[in-house]
Amino acid sequence: MKIIVGNWKMYPETLKEAKAIFSSLRRSVKNIKRAKVIICSPALFLAPLLLLRGTSRISFGGQDAFWENEGAHTGETSPHALASLGATQVILGHSERRAEGETSEIIARKAAATVRNKLTVILCVGEKTRDDAGTYFGEVRDQLRVSLAGFPKGEAKRLIIAYEPIWAIGANALRAATPSDFHEMSILIRKHLVEYFGKKVGFAIPVLYGGSVTDQNAEGFLKDGGADGLLVGRISLDPEKFSTIIHIAERIR
Ligand code: 13P
Repeated sequence: MKIIVGNWKMYPETLKEAKAIFSSLRRSVKNIKRAKVIICSPALFLAPLLLLRGTSRISFGGQDAFWENEGAHTGETSPHALASLGATQVILGHSERRAEGETSEIIARKAAATVRNKLTVILCVGEKTRDDAGTYFGEVRDQLRVSLAGFPKGEAKRLIIAYEPIWAIGANALRAATPSDFHEMSILIRKHLVEYFGKKVGFAIPVLYGGSVTDQNAEGFLKDGGADGLLVGRISLDPEKFSTIIHIAERIR
C-alpha cells in the first residue's frame, strides 16, 4: 500500500476554495481501494473538510503540533485538539518550519506529544544542499537521531518518515531528486530505523519521498526508487494532477 500525502502548506486563501479543491479530489478518488491518501490542509480548514470526507481512504493531518495539549501558548496548535477534530496524522519538522528556527530537539518533544495523542507523526528530514564529499548523509542522520530520540519504541506504527531534500522543494527548486537519489538516502534512513526500532519494526516504517513531485515523475519514485509513498506540495492543490498521482499509486503494489 502506497501513502500519498498532500501538504497544502498555507494554501488556499479561503475556506470556499479549500472546499472546492477537496470536493473535486474526493470525486476523482472515490474508487480508490489500496492507496492511502492523507490531506494536510491548514489546521483552520480541517474541521470543515472532515465533514466533506466521504471515503475512508482519505484521512486528514495537521502541518505541525505543539508539545503540550493545552496552556498559555498563543498561536500554537494542540495535538489533542487536532485529534479531537478527527485528524489522524501530523507533519513534523518540515524544512519550512526548520527554516524558521525549529530544531530537531523541538521536533522530538512535539513527536512525543503527537504520539501520546495517538496521532501518526510524518517526520520530515532532508539536507539543504549536496556536495561531492557526501556530508549531507551526516546531516540527515543527525536529524533522524535527534528528532527520534525518545520516540516510544512500541509506537513505531505511528511513524512515517518523509525524505525531502530542501534543494528539490518548491517553485525555486533546482530539480526534483532522482529515484536513485531517493533510493540511496532511503537505505541510510532504513539503517537508522532498524538500529533504533529493531529489524522487523524498522523495515515496516514507511519512507516517503517529497520535493517537486508531479504526475510525471511520481511513478519513477514509487517504482524505481522504491518509495513507500510521496509527500506532495504544490501539485496536491491541483485536484486533477494529484488524483493522477493517487491513481498511479493505486496501481503499484
Ligand atoms: P513541492 O512539491 O511544492 O516541491 O513541495 C514539497 C513539500 O515541501 C511537501 O512537503
